[in-house]
Amino acid sequence: MTNHGYVGRFAPSPTGPLHFGSLVAALASYLDAKANDGKWLVRIEDLDPPREVTGSSTLILKQLQTLGMNWDDAVLYQSARLSAYERILQQLESREYCFKCDCSRQRVSELKGVYDGRCRSRGLDSNPGLAIRLKISPKTVRFADGIQGVFTQNLEHEVGDFILRRRDGLFAYQLAVVADDAEQKITHIVRGYDLLSSTPRQIYLQELLGLPTPSYAHIPIVVNELGQKLSKQHFAEPINLKNAPSLLISALQFLGMKPPPTLIRAAPAALMAWGAEHWDIQRVPKLAKMTW
Ligand code: GLU
Repeated sequence: MTNHGYVGRFAPSPTGPLHFGSLVAALASYLDAKANDGKWLVRIEDLDPPREVTGSSTLILKQLQTLGMNWDDAVLYQSARLSAYERILQQLESREYCFKCDCSRQRVSELKGVYDGRCRSRGLDSNPGLAIRLKISPKTVRFADGIQGVFTQNLEHEVGDFILRRRDGLFAYQLAVVADDAEQKITHIVRGYDLLSSTPRQIYLQELLGLPTPSYAHIPIVVNELGQKLSKQHFAEPINLKNAPSLLISALQFLGMKPPPTLIRAAPAALMAWGAEHWDIQRVPKLAKMTW
């Protein structure tokens, strides 16, 4: 099938080099784009300077290129988009969809992460150091995930009014991702299962802002033997580019593909071409997580 309007993306946060988990996410989004004759873009989500590891954006981009995943169009950096986020926030504020909030992280975690609307009607003014939340309407969001099937979330009972700008002044991921997927005209999003429960918030924001909703597909996340997501916090090893073919073959297998053993001698570009030709999103296991 060819789909000339397809635009996909990989959106890593520069918190360290790629590890096997982020490699799998990059590969799934890349192959789905290329199998659909689409464009594949990269966006560096450098929204949170304290969590950023110096040099990792450059390293991630280099790793992607060495693995044969070349992006179309210029890389977008979220750090260059702050005025666009500000405009969107002002638009929502002028429509009275927002309120200031001084609740601590601890209070919200005692509510099991579902915000109870405490500050909605307190009329806190614009002192710095307050978070800005979006008033959500009691609404169930439902969408058909391309891998996991129909997903339903009641925003009021499962999330509550959510943060658009944090107490430290940084824009929230949910706001930035919606702004940027629209800016980059993304039509298809393939990413890790850990973001499935964020998708209804993103769809809700898209609807409020009159932006199109892309198609979503969430692949299982890679976990270690303790069931923990491979991540920097859990000391996931950075990928070793000397093993590029065997890493790519493992990543293809993780995604439900059966690369022939001879591909171990192939260059990354040939592996990518094989992957794009044989990609079938329906073969990706319909699971939240998988040990690898
Ligand atoms: N930057 C996010 C992450 O690294 C991914 C965001 C997304 O794909 O929507 O987990």
